[in-house]
Amino acid sequence: MLEQHLRFLQKRSIRFWVSILISISLMLTLGVSIYSGYKSMKQTLINNSLNMNYFYAQKLAHDTEEFFRVSKQTLQLYSEELTILSKSASGGLDKNQIKHELEELFRSTNAFNSVAYIDQDGVVQGTYPDSLNIIGQKLTSKPTLISLKVRKAYISEPYIAGTGNYLVLMTVPVWGKNGEYIGFLDGTVYLEEENALKTLLNKQFFSDESYVYVVDSNGRLIYHPNSKRIGKDVTENVVVQNVLKGKSGKQRANNTEGVNMLAGYAYVSSSKWGIVSQTPTKMALSPLSPFIKNMIYYVLPFFLIIILMSLLFTQYIIKPLKQLADYSVRLSSGDIDGPMPMIYAWYFEAKILQTTIKQVVSSLQKRINYLTLKAHTDPLTGIPNRRTLDTFLEDWMSTKTPFSMLIADLDHFKQVNDTYGHDKGDEVLKFIVNVIREELRTEDVCGRYGGEEFMVLLPNANKKIAFSVAERIRTKIAQSISPIGKPITVSIGISSFPEDGDQTLLLFKKADEAMYKAKQNGRNQTVCT
Ligand code: GH3
Ligand code: MG
Ligand code: MG
Repeated sequence: MLEQHLRFLQKRSIRFWVSILISISLMLTLGVSIYSGYKSMKQTLINNSLNMNYFYAQKLAHDTEEFFRVSKQTLQLYSEELTILSKSASGGLDKNQIKHELEELFRSTNAFNSVAYIDQDGVVQGTYPDSLNIIGQKLTSKPTLISLKVRKAYISEPYIAGTGNYLVLMTVPVWGKNGEYIGFLDGTVYLEEENALKTLLNKQFFSDESYVYVVDSNGRLIYHPNSKRIGKDVTENVVVQNVLKGKSGKQRANNTEGVNMLAGYAYVSSSKWGIVSQTPTKMALSPLSPFIKNMIYYVLPFFLIIILMSLLFTQYIIKPLKQLADYSVRLSSGDIDGPMPMIYAWYFEAKILQTTIKQVVSSLQKRINYLTLKAHTDPLTGIPNRRTLDTFLEDWMSTKTPFSMLIADLDHFKQVNDTYGHDKGDEVLKFIVNVIREELRTEDVCGRYGGEEFMVLLPNANKKIAFSVAERIRTKIAQSISPIGKPITVSIGISSFPEDGDQTLLLFKKADEAMYKAKQNGRNQTVCT
């Protein structure tokens, strides 16, 4: 199985591999860019949300601080009024005057749900609105006692008053005509009812699921969009823990309900409150998925175009290699003689391959030509050897081409060798070949059949013509001065196809017999069958 797979892979072309490589790298690039886009977008969204919440919490803290500052100022203003009134009054402050001042104070601001003047013994001297019905009562609540004790501007912890209201008490001391402490002026801020503080916190800054909550210095909720949660202890929340340390900042953390939140928080130093503005992380990250979808949507066409262009370019790069490979396949199948196809090798490696293949093929061709020639010719005289002669014979006989065969044997050649040496004998053989060839037509074939025996084949020549050619050759040789300084002679025998037989051996035998007859008859003559 594995082997099959390997074989399959080995058969794949470079185009296949490069295409795979390009596709994989482009896909990885796309993946990585989408992933990094996703990562950076996510971080940006988180940071944006954290910053927005942080700035908003800071703004609210600042506004709350302002609320307390302005409210205190207002209270102080009326406290001073009461001091002035006490100076003109002989026997303490007049109840109606107090009521009048309290009403004015109440109407001058929308900060308080109620205002009151308490004397130094904690007895209520006046309230507005007077529906509270507590005038003349001695107050014993903790904030009242603290206020009487500290004798300076004071903002209480949120607490549930005797009237059942969850509230914050703001007080400023009131001084008598001689500078003595005569009580305090207070304003209440009902945390669950409408007032300037609530309006301020209620302002919806975000359009999404973001919200704001406020905790007192004990980590209890004093403001929350879900009013049922007001009064709950949320100190286990890390954000609350941080803001109550007096810090301002931003943080990603789970809220008390386990929902992951991006929170910004700020500390209100005058009331020791913590203000937290937060957005569910899931909500803040909601633009992420459409962003990724859009990104893919916009990138994909480019991606496909790039893949397509890369594949086309790959094809262009690989084309010369493929052509060379195809040509090599042709070469290895034996087709070595054909010309090299036109290949436009436009880069170094392909060019080198092309040139090398060209050189190898051309040197192979030369070598093959050389070997072919060597196999078909006689090395001494350079004329066809016996094998080549046989090929001619078979060829002509198969095509029924009539021809005549001359067998010429040198007379007393042994003596030549003996007398002049073997080298001289070789020269004589070459000389004889030249003389014979001069007497032949181009279509005639002269080959060396044995040591000093030559075969001449004359296509389309009958016996009569063959005889006259043989005689011409014989007399020419007999009249020429050979390398040994004197003429040499030959004896020639003739046979013809088809009249003397249709087999090479038979034809040869007959010609050889005729030649032998010529020898017997005294040599230097031609004999026909
Ligand atoms: P004849 O044919 O007239 O009867 O006498 P011959 O002396 O020619 O006798 P034969 O044909 O039997 O002798 C052939 C001689 O040719 C023998 C050998 O020394 C010589 N010979 C054969 N091949 C070569 C060759 O390649 N070079 C040389 N120099 N001599 C060769
Ligand atoms: Mg011989
Ligand atoms: Mg001889």
